[in-house]
Amino acid sequence: MNKFFKRRALVAWIALVAITVMPFTALAQGTQIKYHPNKYSPQDDVKLGRQAAQEAENQFPLLRDETVRGYVESVGRRLVAAIPPEFQHPEFQYYFKVVNASDINAFALPGGPMYVNRGMIEAAHTEGEMAGVMAHELSHVALRHGTAQATKGQKYGVLAGIAGIAGTIFGGPGVGQLAQAPFAVYLLKFSREYETEADVLGAQIMARAGYDPRDLANMFRTIEQQGGGGGGFLSDHPSPSDRYARINREAQQLRVNSNTGIDSREFARIQERLRGYQRAPTMAEIQRSGQRYPVGETTGDYPNNGNYPNNPPSGRVAYPSSRYENYSIFNGGVQVSVPNNWRQINDNSTVWFVPEGAYGQYNGQAVFTHGASFGVAQTNSRNLQSASQELINNLAQGNNNLRSSGGFQRTTMAGRNALFMTLSNVNEATGRPETVRVITTQLRNGQLFYMIAVAPQNERNFENAFQTIMQSVRIND
Ligand SMILES: [Zn+2]
Repeated sequence: MNKFFKRRALVAWIALVAITVMPFTALAQGTQIKYHPNKYSPQDDVKLGRQAAQEAENQFPLLRDETVRGYVESVGRRLVAAIPPEFQHPEFQYYFKVVNASDINAFALPGGPMYVNRGMIEAAHTEGEMAGVMAHELSHVALRHGTAQATKGQKYGVLAGIAGIAGTIFGGPGVGQLAQAPFAVYLLKFSREYETEADVLGAQIMARAGYDPRDLANMFRTIEQQGGGGGGFLSDHPSPSDRYARINREAQQLRVNSNTGIDSREFARIQERLRGYQRAPTMAEIQRSGQRYPVGETTGDYPNNGNYPNNPPSGRVAYPSSRYENYSIFNGGVQVSVPNNWRQINDNSTVWFVPEGAYGQYNGQAVFTHGASFGVAQTNSRNLQSASQELINNLAQGNNNLRSSGGFQRTTMAGRNALFMTLSNVNEATGRPETVRVITTQLRNGQLFYMIAVAPQNERNFENAFQTIMQSVRIND
């Protein structure tokens, strides 16, 4: 069984309060910017960003080309070194990866991870334009905008949500709304003030790094010319014309560091290299296909997200222990007991409990041979039966050999009405026939909560374990 159900966006960070910017001028340094109140520590930023990065890498296909990635990294390093001292955080771990998507976009996560779309590198006219978008994104990170925004959102219980990213499925504002925008979780909508700050600090970083800060403004024009209105940087960042003017005004106050040895030919070489690849998919296409194909150099030990070994699961596992261990998942929304020789694996926004040997990667996908998983689905229907059918259909999209062997049966889970269906499948990695059990029930907010258990058809000793796990489920919604 491979990973199946692409949970849509989960986190809603809502900006409610107008933020004060302090736009007084500090001579050649440009406009002075201040931090917003933030109840998190810089280490929290790092932790949150790391979790979100893991999710991002589960969803986005990375361009596995060390030449391109290394180049983007070198530009990124130059920009990081140019962050003004008051916004440097020794705890932060900046790194840079390229997403094989055509949308002109880039995003950065709290504490340092940055993802630059291949489409952005292809669209930029110069290294400076590319660096401009990166400097803007870096500024959000350096100013700790993600956790500053979460600080304001506390009364909605968003804090619990960002601690686990997958967590706001139990309540929290705007989940349904964000569910329409698959990748919105990573592309936080910051308030206009935050965006202005990121533009201004971005321009300052550009100048300090030896780039013309007006290239950040120019990139807005470039994106507009290339019809980047849909789904790209501009849709995350509204009103480009005001910003264009604001950045150019800022640029007049800045002196560009002329001593950085930027080689413009390198950018041209990287663009040339990218032309050698087949067209990158759009984010929407990636989302629709639910597939991630590694692109580019697949040799070498490219690190995966750290959740799975790089190799396929052996499928040889120990019997489920008769001792059970209690787990609290989804930020305490669900309690469940699981054999104590299994471990928890977070796959995308699904939580798996699996024995050793039962999980790995095959064709760039996470594959499980034995285990139980839990997740929450945002479905179109609020009727349990049709919502469950939607889940099954979704499941079938990622698992071509999945067949149902009968309809839904009524059961209960966590004291509520539930449906149960047994399906057969052929495991991608081992080629063995397997049985997939799906149990669904509804949360108070109408979302579908599900447990999916999988084991090879002939391994009956897992049935009891699955039964015990299912009966142990408690939901606090
Ligand atoms: Zn921004």
